[in-house]
Amino acid sequence: MLKGKTALVTGSTSGIGLGIAKALAVQGANIVLNGFGDVDGAKAELEALGARVAYHGADMSKPADIEDMMRYAAAQFERVDILVNNAGIQHVARIEHFPTEKWDAIIAINLSSAFHATRLALPAMQAADKGKGWGRIINVASVHGLVGSAEKSAYVAAKHGIVGLTKVTALENATSGVTCNAICPGWVLTPLVQKQVDAKAAAGGISNAAATQQLLGEKEPSLQFTTPEELGALAVFLCSPAGNNVRGVAWNMDGGWAAQ
Ligand code: NAD
Repeated sequence: MLKGKTALVTGSTSGIGLGIAKALAVQGANIVLNGFGDVDGAKAELEALGARVAYHGADMSKPADIEDMMRYAAAQFERVDILVNNAGIQHVARIEHFPTEKWDAIIAINLSSAFHATRLALPAMQAADKGKGWGRIINVASVHGLVGSAEKSAYVAAKHGIVGLTKVTALENATSGVTCNAICPGWVLTPLVQKQVDAKAAAGGISNAAATQQLLGEKEPSLQFTTPEELGALAVFLCSPAGNNVRGVAWNMDGGWAAQ
């Protein structure tokens, strides 16, 4: 379905970003990979699915790096048709103890990076399909884009912000073939959440399994994690022709978290 299209997925060396990149690769998209850590492993997984893969190591907290990455993607594959703004970090602390450098980093990586990548991707998307426009911008927000949780001030502010950015991007392109939507997962067992499970186990002197059950039980009525594969399938739907008129939604996949 996506043969000949190019998807740039930020933070795609791990977790949800890698899951979405794999789902798009299965549909035939070329992938521009970004993120830190096991780059070679992620690249190999995507190539095994038959995708053409390029990698750029932009630090998403740095606008100049993002500009360089978008230039690189266009040079490799002509243009970016699908932009998935996914890179993100977390820090957990009460506001009065929240380190200001952590606040700045979370706002830069989880929110401002999406603005920069979007502003740079839009002109080519708007010009595509003989000027009628074709493009998909998918912002990986969170259930924390819809509701709050204590000790996550920067994360919740950034995720509410990205839901707002999603709506404005969708509205400014509503008469074109460029759509923008947000995905709002509940708990997904990735390294980002494993750290929170580990902290809970250490603080409570309990096992990892007990900490996992506690974490789910506090927020997620289904008592089960959403998977990167499920989120990848949602991204594929948004990229499909059936997603042509889905614009500006914040779609939760959260086991009922936000329904409470
Ligand atoms: P993860 O830690 O597995 O992956 C994060 C990715 O972002 C990695 O590829 C990492 O290298 C990259 N990254 C981090 N800082 C970066 C930077 N400065 N520049 C470039 N890349 C950087 O985490 P994840 O859980 O897969 O999170 C991905 C996204 O999903 C985040 O935006 C997160 O907020 C969101 N999310 C996660 C959950 C969850 O439960 N795991 C729930 C809702 C939303």
